[in-house]
Amino acid sequence: MENKLNDVIWYPFTQMKTAKAPIHIESAKDALLFSKDGKEYIDAISSWWVNIHGHANPIIAKAISDQANKLEQVIFAGFTHSPALDLAKGLINVLPNNFAKVFFSDNGSTSVEVALKLALQYWHNKGFKQKTNIIAFENSYHGDTFGAMSIGAKNEFNAAFEQLLFKVDFLPVPNAQNLETVKQQLKTIAAQGTTAAFIFEPLVQGASGMLMHKAEHLNELLKIAHDNQILTIADEVMTGFGRTGKNFAIEHLSEKPDIICLSKGITGGFMPLGVTVSSQKIFDAFYSTEVAKTFFHGHSYTANPLACSAANASLKLLTDPSCQKQIQEITQQHALFAERIHSNPLVKEVRQTGTILAIELITSEKTSYFNSIGNKVNDFCLEKGVYLRPLGNIVYIMPPYCITESQLNKVYNTLFELLTSLELPHGKPDQQNSN
Ligand code: PMP
Repeated sequence: MENKLNDVIWYPFTQMKTAKAPIHIESAKDALLFSKDGKEYIDAISSWWVNIHGHANPIIAKAISDQANKLEQVIFAGFTHSPALDLAKGLINVLPNNFAKVFFSDNGSTSVEVALKLALQYWHNKGFKQKTNIIAFENSYHGDTFGAMSIGAKNEFNAAFEQLLFKVDFLPVPNAQNLETVKQQLKTIAAQGTTAAFIFEPLVQGASGMLMHKAEHLNELLKIAHDNQILTIADEVMTGFGRTGKNFAIEHLSEKPDIICLSKGITGGFMPLGVTVSSQKIFDAFYSTEVAKTFFHGHSYTANPLACSAANASLKLLTDPSCQKQIQEITQQHALFAERIHSNPLVKEVRQTGTILAIELITSEKTSYFNSIGNKVNDFCLEKGVYLRPLGNIVYIMPPYCITESQLNKVYNTLFELLTSLELPHGKPDQQNSN
């Protein structure tokens, strides 16, 4: 990094030697970010998918401010508070009706760790101590902590830790061609009787390239899991809170999971918060006079009142008909744009689920997070005032729901301009998925 101003910070997912100096953002409003040097950018990926209502939403800001003047934090063991009680009730209300108990943590990775531990201890508490195996999808990403890395795809992100990661059975993501084979694979694993849980990102695998699968195919796998005493965990850290066109991706499914992980959009991007919500059945396996059956897990900032207040305000905004309408409008606009762009010779595939639109570009390099076109796309779009952070050659749009029609059109037009500026690769690109 050339800019020594920032030389005491070590940035995430950043090779500090080669990365450009970060853009200094001073303020933001709705879909716009304003930099210290006077530029503005449309935040077309909701700042790592969190700011579902855009930036500096006054209703969420006020909720946090009011709460900060009342109760900013209190230990969450032996004490409770209204923001957490309201949020738990609000979530149970809006989630499909098989969910009963909300467990708080701080981020997406911890919501996943909690889910894994709940599932494993569920079987332990019930006396099935051999059920310690986890099934996950190939290409999945569930976070950066050790459990989350174990159940994620193995790649450059976690190579240094590989020997320490626990063993997982990875299933191919189902599609029309492989469905029967994948179902058979799952049945074979299930027959061993050692699997505790199957965890998946429902409908969209985010960080691995916005890979999408059909609800009907996932349903078939969930049915097998349920018939074979395998708990199911939906990681909706990315897909939750309206992203897929419904409040939760699992609403597209007829088979409901036992546990759901939520974070990112939960506070509208104002505060870090994660929750893991379980069915009554899971809770009941811990409900006991035996101390060893307790769920011994918690974080210092668990259910922080400011975060819960932000989440209560964000949930209210999300369920308001005007926000639901915005979600449907973005979904429709994306579909029209997809129709216009999919035949471009540089486009291998356009994928869409609700407000998530991904464009896989053809380049002379393979499809990967490390495909060098990603940086070029990033720079090109920033220059035009649009912030996109492609996953290598997968360019995606995941805007805040408050984005205006003209801002969205600017994002689309910037992508058209980008394609015009790029040259078709020479030679046949290797289109193998590596990440
Ligand atoms: N699960 C999924 C599906 C995610 O997309 C992410 C983050 N991109 C995580 C878990 C981890 O969340 P966090 O970054 O908040 O730890």
